[in-house]
Amino acid sequence: MKVLDGVYVDGAWRSAGAAEPLAVVDPATEEVVARVGAGSAQDVDAAVRAARDAFPGWAAAPPAERAARLAALRDAMATRADEIAATVTRELGAPPKLAKAVHTQLPIAVAGSYADLVASYPFETQVGNSTVLMEPVGVVGAITPWNYPLHQIVAKVAPALAAGCTVVLKPAENTPLTARLFAEAVHEAGFPAGVFNMVVGLGPVAGQALVEHPGVDMVSFTGSTAVGRRIGALAGGAVKRVALELGGKSASVLLPGADLAPAIKATLANALSNSGQRCSALTRVLVHRDQYEEAVALAAEAVAGYVPGERIGPLVSAEQRERVVGYIEKGVAEGARLVAGGPTPPLSRGYYVSPTLFADVAPEMAIAQEEIFGPVVAFLRFEDEEDALRIANGTVYGLAGAVWGAPDEAAAFARRMEAGQVDVNGGRFNARAPFGGYKQSGIGRELGEHGLTEYLHTKSLQF
Ligand code: NAP
Ligand code: MG
Repeated sequence: MKVLDGVYVDGAWRSAGAAEPLAVVDPATEEVVARVGAGSAQDVDAAVRAARDAFPGWAAAPPAERAARLAALRDAMATRADEIAATVTRELGAPPKLAKAVHTQLPIAVAGSYADLVASYPFETQVGNSTVLMEPVGVVGAITPWNYPLHQIVAKVAPALAAGCTVVLKPAENTPLTARLFAEAVHEAGFPAGVFNMVVGLGPVAGQALVEHPGVDMVSFTGSTAVGRRIGALAGGAVKRVALELGGKSASVLLPGADLAPAIKATLANALSNSGQRCSALTRVLVHRDQYEEAVALAAEAVAGYVPGERIGPLVSAEQRERVVGYIEKGVAEGARLVAGGPTPPLSRGYYVSPTLFADVAPEMAIAQEEIFGPVVAFLRFEDEEDALRIANGTVYGLAGAVWGAPDEAAAFARRMEAGQVDVNGGRFNARAPFGGYKQSGIGRELGEHGLTEYLHTKSLQF
């Protein structure tokens, strides 16, 4: 099998320096479908140098020029939409409908949102006798996970380029084919050479070299809290700016008297989408004791519609499946009641896990505290609203949440949740609203104007 280039530096593809290429596995068939060259620390160094050289010119490019290139990037991605969706299905296992609607269309929309934003953003404002300038931070090292392979890339690269920064991207080792398509789209969009660079490779090799490189001014990372903590410490030691999008254990709270059917339907759709491999998944469902058994019964009925291999895809890798099955076994051992699913693989081939529901989950159990990153949902009982709030806020995470109930009550409850975004009575995802975490779910925000300012320095000139 031909080894595809994974290193894109200074506007050109090159073969990578690391010995072993990455094997890309189709998680639905367990077959190796491609090999991609893995970058070394030397490749990272070359990429950072190219980004440094390109920085002054790109930082000085008028916002209208940056907007035009981002619009061209959006269009180049849209031209490749079918290929992107098919590639996400092949290397992540996402069902085709999800691959098209979410994995492909969302990042196209996000790229477009930054083309619009940069054209109108006030990079210069007046405060009394001062002119306040918003200037690009410099060279950004972006490290992304596999769960939304294109969206995670675009949510960093588009605002960084819009701000006038240059970028070196280290995408996830499991999903380099989608990252290659993105780099091709950047190339076609006509950005000056060196503005965007990519080094496919391993986290502890290429990722670590990027974080530690003195030529990198800012590190933007999405992934696990364990790796994020290490990256934050390294960046802090060098006094680099850092943005961290980490894990979650988000709660969907059904306040007393909530309309159960739509709440359960929407919560499961959220928790099981992308096979539960979402940082913002609503994996804890909190229900008042008087409605608890009815809610669990509704959920058990609804989950039967999530047929593995049809509506729900496999997990990304054998390693992730082992991890998730381990948590299911732990839930049983901890004394939670298995209502649907379980540890037995539903299909003989592919990294599938049955969508699994646990009832009688106590707030201190591991399955109620730790991020599982698979299709596993825990149902917890509460006594009253104060109890619900204590349980909802009672984890180290604070990424997302949902509340269902009478509109005023639900809105008031949402304001008291320690989470970066809360959906009230089924409020829809907004790609221009800030996204990010409280507590150990991260530092900083992505998307929209808040995502842009992460990549900007503030300077004041006094006259
Ligand atoms: P991860 O290890 O945190 O990886 C995220 C990114 O960081 C990948 O590009 C990874 O490279 C890179 N990386 C790993 N170690 C690094 C290091 N020492 N220095 C610099 N970069 C490094 O996450 P994962 O392995 O993909 O998944 C493990 C768990 O993380 C999941 O089970 C889930 O709980 C969590 N996760 C959370 C999110 C989220 O959005 N919050 C997304 C994905 C995963 P490699 O690709 O080579 O590992
Ligand atoms: Mg990893």
